Amino acid sequence: MTCEPTLTPDIDLAALRAKYRQQADKRRRPEGFAQYLEVTSELEEFLEFEPYEPLPARAALTDETDVVVLGGGFAGLIAAGRLKAAGVGSIRIIDRSGDFGGVWYWNRYPGVQCDVESYTYLPLLEEMGYMPKDRYAYGSEIFAYCQQMGRRFDLYKHALFGTIVKSLRWDASIARWRIGTDQGDDVRARYVVMAPGPLNRPKLPGVPGIKRFKGHSFHTTRWDYHYTGGSWSEPELTRLAGKKLAIIGTGATAIQCVPHLAKYAAHLYVFQRTPSYIDDRGNRPTDPEWAKGLRPGWQAERMRNFHIAINEAFDKSDVDLICDGWSEINRNIQTARKAAGWPEMTLEQLMALREVEDYRAMERIRQRVDAIVQDPMTAAMLKPWYRFLCKRPCFNDDYLPTFNRPNVTLVDVSQAKGIEAITPAGIIANGTEFEVDCIIYASGFETTTDLRRRYGIDIVEGRGGLSLYDHWGQGFRTLHGMSVHNFPGMFFTGYLQGGVSGSITQMYDQQARHIAHIVGEAMARGAAMVEPTREAEAAWVDTIRANLVYDKPFWESCTPGYNNNEGIATNRYTIFGEPYGPGFFAFDDLLRQWREKGDFDGLQFSSPAVAQPAAQTV
Ligand code: NDP
Repeated sequence: MTCEPTLTPDIDLAALRAKYRQQADKRRRPEGFAQYLEVTSELEEFLEFEPYEPLPARAALTDETDVVVLGGGFAGLIAAGRLKAAGVGSIRIIDRSGDFGGVWYWNRYPGVQCDVESYTYLPLLEEMGYMPKDRYAYGSEIFAYCQQMGRRFDLYKHALFGTIVKSLRWDASIARWRIGTDQGDDVRARYVVMAPGPLNRPKLPGVPGIKRFKGHSFHTTRWDYHYTGGSWSEPELTRLAGKKLAIIGTGATAIQCVPHLAKYAAHLYVFQRTPSYIDDRGNRPTDPEWAKGLRPGWQAERMRNFHIAINEAFDKSDVDLICDGWSEINRNIQTARKAAGWPEMTLEQLMALREVEDYRAMERIRQRVDAIVQDPMTAAMLKPWYRFLCKRPCFNDDYLPTFNRPNVTLVDVSQAKGIEAITPAGIIANGTEFEVDCIIYASGFETTTDLRRRYGIDIVEGRGGLSLYDHWGQGFRTLHGMSVHNFPGMFFTGYLQGGVSGSITQMYDQQARHIAHIVGEAMARGAAMVEPTREAEAAWVDTIRANLVYDKPFWESCTPGYNNNEGIATNRYTIFGEPYGPGFFAFDDLLRQWREKGDFDGLQFSSPAVAQPAAQTV
């Protein structure tokens, strides 16, 4: 992908719109997210399996700390780092995995790579004094970077790895949170920061027979190198020789591991329900001369440019620092507007222009399939018929050529809306049984199911035993997406009711800075509790709802997926929570002004008289 505008033939918009709608309708399932199996109870082997760094059992801990951070991925690392910088010395970071990294700890499948440019995705590059090796970083480098952050912020001594939080209860008698874990720990904390990340719980297709399969199976987020051979750093999957494999799913994960599987397996069946958008990767090592020329502040500028390039094209600028498939459509829009002398345009005119450029970009992607895949029937199956960003775009140089191999079969299960069953011998799809030795589930993550399922924490109880899940039964209720009335000292990161950035790590940093500011103030005041008033929370919910921008026609036209509530009509986003409508940077301004005002408007600090807990500070 170059930075040139996309040139494709003129397009019959009405015909394409109809085709897109017909494809989405074909794929829609009335049960929406209920089609997926929760990985609990009898399926727990998919989740409990720890192929990487299993930790030995340890004695239960009774512990007193200022802050507990739940999650050791980027959200938790940044939050803990910012809290330490704000003067908080006593922290616990709890994570079920054996190290820092979050998704980059668990996802070690062959080929794992971030498809957002490393210079905008990896957080705090300037503070860390780190320059990624490549334009698009591989998972192993990102994981190592997480470890580096852990060392830089001196967080390892605070970590409780291999530990699953089971309950979070506000104990008014000591004005502390009591955190119960699967290790029998009783950790007490003034403040809790929720940093679970959006992709932490694998999901499985809700088809009968998963437990009956007699061969081997695993989810991509628990890659079994013992079975496949090879390792993360050297994915030579030699133990697959002579084996027949199936992979279910063709999302961003499958796109990256399929070429590796095909290289070693006797035969690979790829079960596809919806084809992905596949553009070229065009990775390259970081140019040291370019890196040397970067000026302080470059990463924030680049993140801003990336965010605008994929979300907004309202300003009069055609500067595209990213120049890849993510920014293609807005680049084309801005090029056209510039050529026309930047005429004033209404939102409707802009959206109409966007639709045309969207069709062009997607048509380029479909033409690419024809140019690479030799068998016309297979090529036809691999073409995505939906608008850009309906599904996560994917970038890979080896995926499409894989379908020219004689040992690879693409099985289109779109008509039946998915595979039908698992048998002891394999998979039933389109009424046919495909016998295989191993089934790999590249079936994704729980992103918008019930929060209790996603957090995996049975009990989250605030003041008076109020359950968070009940408090949010009718939707999120927060101040700035980060704190909640009746949950003193509990803070949230992620997609709730705040700004959504194109780069998730930028959002985490925005939240971490704000939370650290509030915790720092509470500690300076010696306040045991800080929480929003009921009125402030209600006012923020009103602000969010009044400003919500949700392009319903666009999302309804999309093929089902986690971005559009699996195609079930709604008036709001699901995975992104309820974003602040004016945008990420407007939200950033709002938070900054709130902090600068200095009165902590909407928050109440208090220190009830309580019995002092026995201290054993970390
Ligand atoms: P996805 O949810 O994107 O994909 C799951 C796949 O499983 C889809 O192709 C889905 O089909 C398919 N599937 C689900 N149920 C069935 C069924 N019953 N029968 C047949 N197929 C089925 O998960 P991924 O793990 O691929 O990616 C999740 C997210 O993780 C990405 O969207 C991205 O945010 C992130 N990610 C980022 C990467 C990167 O930066 N490069 C790499 C990997 C992941 P359908 O589409 O029809 O629902």
